[in-house]
This record gives sequence, C-alpha cells and structure tokens, in this order.
Amino acid sequence: MRLRNQVGVMLAGLLCLRGTAGSPAVGKTSRQPAGYVYVVLWFDTEDYILPQSDDPAKRIADLLTRQGVRATFKVVGEKGRTLVRRRRLDVIQALQRHEIGYHANTHSQHPTVAEYESQLDWEVGAAEFTRRERPGYEDLRRIFGQAPTCYGQPGSSWAPQVFPALQSWGVKVYLDDAPHVGLEGRPFWYGGLLNIFHIQAGSDLRPNADWSNLAQVKANFQATYASLLQSGGGIVSLYFHPCEFVHREFWDAVNFAQGANPPRDQWKLPAVQAPPEIERNFRFLEGMVAFMKSFPRVRFITASQVLDVMPDRAQHHPFSIAELRQIASRVSPDVSFQVHQDYALSASEIFDLLNQFAASAIRKRPRAWHLRGMIYGPGWPGAELRQDVQVPWNQFVRTVLDVEGFLADHHQIPNVVWLGSKPVPPESYLVALAQAARALLAGEPAPDAVTLRPAHLAAARYVADDSPNLWEWVIFPPGFDAPQLMVLAKLQAWTLKPALLVDAHR
Ligand SMILES: [Zn+2]
Repeated sequence: MRLRNQVGVMLAGLLCLRGTAGSPAVGKTSRQPAGYVYVVLWFDTEDYILPQSDDPAKRIADLLTRQGVRATFKVVGEKGRTLVRRRRLDVIQALQRHEIGYHANTHSQHPTVAEYESQLDWEVGAAEFTRRERPGYEDLRRIFGQAPTCYGQPGSSWAPQVFPALQSWGVKVYLDDAPHVGLEGRPFWYGGLLNIFHIQAGSDLRPNADWSNLAQVKANFQATYASLLQSGGGIVSLYFHPCEFVHREFWDAVNFAQGANPPRDQWKLPAVQAPPEIERNFRFLEGMVAFMKSFPRVRFITASQVLDVMPDRAQHHPFSIAELRQIASRVSPDVSFQVHQDYALSASEIFDLLNQFAASAIRKRPRAWHLRGMIYGPGWPGAELRQDVQVPWNQFVRTVLDVEGFLADHHQIPNVVWLGSKPVPPESYLVALAQAARALLAGEPAPDAVTLRPAHLAAARYVADDSPNLWEWVIFPPGFDAPQLMVLAKLQAWTLKPALLVDAHR
C-alpha cells in the first residue's frame, strides 16, 4: 500500500530528527519536592445588605497586612458597587493591598449560576455566563484597580460552562469548595483552569458555630503540616466570610432562601452578634494566622501565586519521540490523565498530541509537537460503541486528518469521530490512535486495518454523579436539580489532570 510505505519511510526520518533534538523530560532527574506548606487564605466578601459587614472586611485586610500576609478577597460585584455607594473608600483601599478575586455579580439573587446554566447547553451556557457575570467582574477591576485573578461560585451554584467563559476573560484559577469535582483532595486542572477546589488540607480548620475550637484547629493544622511535608509539600485552602464575623445569619439566607427573590426595597437585615462575640471571632482568625505563620515551612500565597508553584509544565513543552512513545504506550480503554516525571497530561491533551503526531506522519511534515492550547471535552454526549469496529488503514488515515481539522477549528474533543459512515466515541478512537502511533513510532509498517473497541472516560469518576446533595444550598428553590450540568461536567473530565507542585520558593 502506497500510503503505508510513505508513512513508514517518513517515520524513519522523524525518529532520526527527534532523536537528536529536544530534551526529553521523561527519565530526566526531577527537581526535589517543594518542601513547603502553601496556605491559600481566602475571604468570600459578599454581603451587600448588612452595612456592618463592611468593617470586618477592612479589619481582616488590615490585620493580615500587619502580619505580612497577603490573602485573596473574592468579592461579589454588587458588594464592590455597594462599597462605592456607601463611600467606603477605606474598605476598598484595605482590600487593595491584597489580591482580588470574583465571586459572581449578585451571588444569591435568582436565578443563580447553576439555575440559569441548568437549562443551557455548553456553548450558550458559556456565553450566558459572560453576559450575566462579566459586568460585575469589570466593575471590580475598575473599583479595585486590579483584574480579579480567580473565581468561585456562590454557595454550591457550580456549573461547567463557566470555565471556557472565565478562560476567555483571562481568569486562570478557580478557588472555592464544593463536591462537584475533586481529585483526591488536591489541586487539579479542569476546564483549562487551575482548581483549588474540594481540597482536603484545610477542610478541618474552619471555626465551629461559636468559634470556640481554636485549640482543635491548631492541632489539626499541625497534623496537616506534618503530613503535607512528608509528601514533599502541598496546598492548604482555608476560607472565611467577613460577614460571618459579625452576623448571626447569612445575609442571603434571610432574603433569598428557598428560591425567594424579593425586590431591593424589601430586603431584610440579618441579626448582628454582640461585641464580645465579634471580638472572639477576630481573636480566632488572628490566633490561627499567627499560629500557621510560626511554622518554618509555611508560605502564605494568593490565588495567582498558586500558578507559580503549580505551573502547567505540559504547555509549551516540546514533546520528543521518546515521550510520545511512552504517552502512547500508557493509553488504555480506561481513558484518563497521565502523570509523567515533570508534567501531567489530561486525556484531551494526550488525544491532541497523538493526533498531531499521526497527522504529521501522514502528511510527511516532521515537526516538533506541542500542545495547541486548551482542548475542551465534547459539548454534547456522542456515539456509543458496543462491539468492535474494523476499518481499513486508508480510512483511519483520512479520519486522523479530519480530526486534526476539528481540533484546530473547535479546540474541543469531537463527541463523535467518523470513520467513513461509522460514528465511534472519541475514547475508542483515542485507544486505536495510540495503538497505531505506537506501531508507527516503533518504525513498524502501518497495519492493514485498525480495530476500534469499546472504551470509556475513566477520568469522569472524579466528577460527581448528579444527586440532591450537590444542590443542598439553602438558596436554591426546593427540589432544585441539575442533571444536565453533571452530564456536561463529566464530558469535561477530558480536561482533568493533577496540578503538580514545583519548588518555586527555594
Ligand atoms: Zn458566597
């Protein structure tokens, strides 16, 4: 077969070219683990109803500034506008010394993010998030004089369509806590953003109902510190709300619970705690921060600084033939991410690299292989494959080039890969692609035929199945459920991979 021979000859050239170029990361001696416990301290600054919630935001910011700690204040758009309306320039200036994140435009007014996204598909959902939420983000940029670096959803109003929207705004970090996605309690990449989300370390450092557990959380931190250092360091995620230092009940629970949506002139003020209670709460925070600071290998970092200690080293990495061989050899019908010596690859990045390699081999255009930026998961469920499908090599070759065009144009994994008239799921195609790539990389002649077998996206197990406990937030209307959001979320498990720590603070 003419094409097969051409591919075989061309591959010999490629192997020679790549064998002398680049510096393969796999097998290279890795850097020592970071050896630091990085504490990301964040404050959801959201109450735009209770005027007494302005002062604690300022007091927290000043207290941390005095301690030399920079925190991340995730501010609600309406909160920022309210501070301006109340002429609280002093609060704005105190917060400006820290990093500003974004916590939605109006937070709990209905429909909240998951409510409006629950009825939308991938593309319209992303556009709708930008339409509704971008104005608040721009207001914060103007009010605080810095672009918010991260986003986190109101309550558990999480939705997958926000990720491409945030990426298009230049937001690179998702900072929050909820059960929708999680990678064994550690930071991860998902939807193109670094997720400090569903983090184990720090989850037992929160105050109890009467803020009386300072001794216990100190002991918990000591244990977390020791265990993180044992594994080379890690990230602690700890959050508070400035309003909880002064109120008895959340501002939104007294106004927007169970789907209620009263107009502004009917908003009620939540009850306030007594001054001694408020002082006790500040002593908790101050004591906790001073305690954490006393450990020699603790570093407080902001949301954007997590990108420095957990950079995505797969992006811009030149992949060698030896690396592609190793990547291809580790693809199985349980499609998932891979962790290599110096970088991790999501399933969509593996798909991208191997398809680029196969296409360049077919086109006889030897080149260096880099990730082509973000490749999202499919925006819609696709084909199912219940039994093996066999196609001739000449069809597989044409499909590789067709898929290459799809990736370049859509930056998304296709929900269906067409082998002539046969639609197959992208997971089955990836497994066959990896097998073909292995043969080509080994210098073997192309096979006569390619068999596509059932495969599944194993990485989807890190995305929760839809269930009522995902949507337990008191603000949601009774019985709120969003199964379609979790279907889309599982498709985005193509983009999931661990975030790896490097030692940026030697
Ligand atoms: Zn909130």
